[in-house]
Amino acid sequence: MEEKITLTIGKQKNIALIAHDGKKPTLIQWCEDNKEILKKHFLCGTGTTARMISDKTGLPVRGYNSGPLGGDQQIGAKVVEGRIDLIIFFSDPLTAQPHDPDVKALTRIAQVYDIPIALNKASADFMIKSEFMNESYDHDVINFQKNIADRANTL
Ligand code: PGA
Repeated sequence: MEEKITLTIGKQKNIALIAHDGKKPTLIQWCEDNKEILKKHFLCGTGTTARMISDKTGLPVRGYNSGPLGGDQQIGAKVVEGRIDLIIFFSDPLTAQPHDPDVKALTRIAQVYDIPIALNKASADFMIKSEFMNESYDHDVINFQKNIADRANTL
């Protein structure tokens, strides 16, 4: 079995949107500014962020639980299942978060599965203007079946 498997991020992407409280206005404005692009994709987000973006921009955003109540973990689980392709996460680096372990877990799992994740507006701007937004993209991720087989054989 191969160490890596090639997964394809489709042309139409599943995008997760999350903003900490101090960054919600910035993310809502960013969604408004990029509405024409975002409406071509499937959007989801943590509960409050999703609701506020829907209310203020009219974009359809599927909401999970609020971040501090497990929403980041729900989104992380979808990354593992291959159901989220891209994450826009305006985290607040100057405010302590009650769910800091969940925030770390989400950024970590995005790294593990090689999912594009923008943690600030400039990264999100570069990402949304990328040519890959309009085409499919192949990337290599860890072959979890091989990983389990190897570990079960050697540990
Ligand atoms: P919220 O969660 O969208 O429900 O506010 C975001 C977060 O703090 O992770």
